[in-house]
Amino acid sequence: MNIESLIRTNIRALKPYHSARQDFLSGILLDANENSFGSTLALDGLSLNRYPDPYQRELRTVLANINDVASENVFVGVGSDEVIDLLVRVFCEPKLDSAILLEPTYGMYRVAASIQDIQIHSCLLTDKFQIDLDAVKKTIDATTKLIFCCSPNNPTANILCSEDILELCTLGAMVIVDEAYIDFAQSPSMGKQILTHPNLVVMRTLSKAWGLAGIRLGYCVADPIVISFMMKVKAPYNINALTSRAALQALRKGEELHRTIDAIIKEREWLSAQLKALPCIEHVFPSNANFILVRCKNATALYKYLVSEEIIVRNRSTEPLLQNCLRITVGTRQENEQLISAIKEYCA
Ligand code: PMP
Repeated sequence: MNIESLIRTNIRALKPYHSARQDFLSGILLDANENSFGSTLALDGLSLNRYPDPYQRELRTVLANINDVASENVFVGVGSDEVIDLLVRVFCEPKLDSAILLEPTYGMYRVAASIQDIQIHSCLLTDKFQIDLDAVKKTIDATTKLIFCCSPNNPTANILCSEDILELCTLGAMVIVDEAYIDFAQSPSMGKQILTHPNLVVMRTLSKAWGLAGIRLGYCVADPIVISFMMKVKAPYNINALTSRAALQALRKGEELHRTIDAIIKEREWLSAQLKALPCIEHVFPSNANFILVRCKNATALYKYLVSEEIIVRNRSTEPLLQNCLRITVGTRQENEQLISAIKEYCA
C-alpha cells in the first residue's frame, strides 16, 4: 500500500522549518538566541534556558523499546489530542477529504476534523458497541482518508474486535486506533500490528494508567513514513523539557504502573457491583477502561442531583445510542462510597 499517496499534496511537498537544536545539542551554542547566561529558574538540573530536542530522541527510544518497535515508528505529542490534530492535518485536505467516526466515541476526533473543515461521516456502532463493518464499507469513498477507532472506546468502555479493525485496514484509508485506555483491558495493544499494516496508526497516552494527564504526553506508533510527515508538520519544540524529564522518570517505573492498574481494575469491579445493586440504575455496561457507563431511568436528573452533591460525572445521554447514560470515572474507594451513598439517597 502506498501511504505517501494518502498524504495531502502540499504536506508531501512541505519544506519543514529547520530548528537550531535539530543539528546540535551541545557545544558553544550561539545559534538559537537562547539566554547564554542561564535560566531564571533552577529545576531538577535541567538546562531550561535551552530549547529541548525537537526530535525527542531519548523519549522516543524508550517508548520504542516499551512497544517493541523502532524509534522511527514513534511520534510524541502534547497529549494524544495533538496526535489526533496532526493526523487530520497531515492526511486530510480541507473541504475535500472526509473522516469516518464510529460513534458514539471520543469527541476530539470530530472537533479536530471540523477545525480543518473535513467532512465527517458517522457510522454508528452496533447495539453491542462493535464496528458495523457493512456500514463503514457503504460509507467509505475516495475522499475518506481516516477512520478513527477507539479501543477501549470512550464512552462505551468496551474493546473493539481487533479482526474488524484489521479488516478496516484493507479498505484503503488510514486506520487510527486510539488505545488511551488499553492498559485497563485484558486484550493486548495492537501496537505491533503497525509493522505489517502501513496504514495503521496506534495511539497511546500517559494521561490514564500512568496518571500523568498534567504533563501532556501522548504518542503514536506507525509506519516511519507517517511518522516522518508528522514530524515535519508539528511545532518544532512541541514537547517541553519538563514533560520529557517527567515522562522518562515515570517510564522507568514499570512496577508502579502495574500496581495502579491492578488497584483501578479491582475498584472498577467493586464499583460496578455496587452500581448494579441500585434501583435507579437500569444497566451497568461491562468495562475494559477506568470508567463505567451506566444507563439510568433519568440520566439528566441524576446528573444534576450529583452536581448538587458536588459529585461530578459525565452526562452522555445526548450521544447516539446512549440515551439516559452517564459515564463515571472509577474514583478512590472513599470517593466511590460517597457516590454510591449519594445515588442511594437519590433513589430513596
Ligand atoms: N483519547 C481518548 C479516547 C480519550 O478519552 C482522551 C482523553 N479523555 C484522549 C485521547 C486524550 O488524551 P491526552 O490526555 O493524551 O490528550
